[in-house]
Amino acid sequence: MSAGVGIWRCRTCGTGYFPERLLCSRCHTHDFVPDRVIEGVVEEITVIRHVLGQTDWAPRRLASVRTVNGPRITVGLRDESGPGTVIELFEEGNAPFGAAKAVP
Ligand SMILES: [Zn+2]
Repeated sequence: MSAGVGIWRCRTCGTGYFPERLLCSRCHTHDFVPDRVIEGVVEEITVIRHVLGQTDWAPRRLASVRTVNGPRITVGLRDESGPGTVIELFEEGNAPFGAAKAVP
C-alpha cells in the first residue's frame, strides 16, 4: 500500500488529470508530470452489488472524490464514509482506494 493516488498534472497550467489524457483540455498542451493526491472529499457513493460471473462478490462501494488541487477521481471505499467526508487516498495493486482520515 502506498500513500496517495498517482495523477498527471499539466506542466503548463497545473490542471490535474486521472486517468492520463493525451491533451490538456484547458490549454491543449501535452506535457504532463506525475503528481500525487493524498486526500479528497467524497461527493457521491455508488454501491456495486453484483458483477456477472463473480460468485464470491461482496457489495463494494465506490466514491466519486473531489481531490484537493486535483481532478475528480473514482476510488474504492474501505469504510462507511458518506458524502462530505474527507478521506485519505492510497493505492493497492495500482487501484485507487480511500478511507476516512484517522482522527488523531
Ligand atoms: Zn494545461
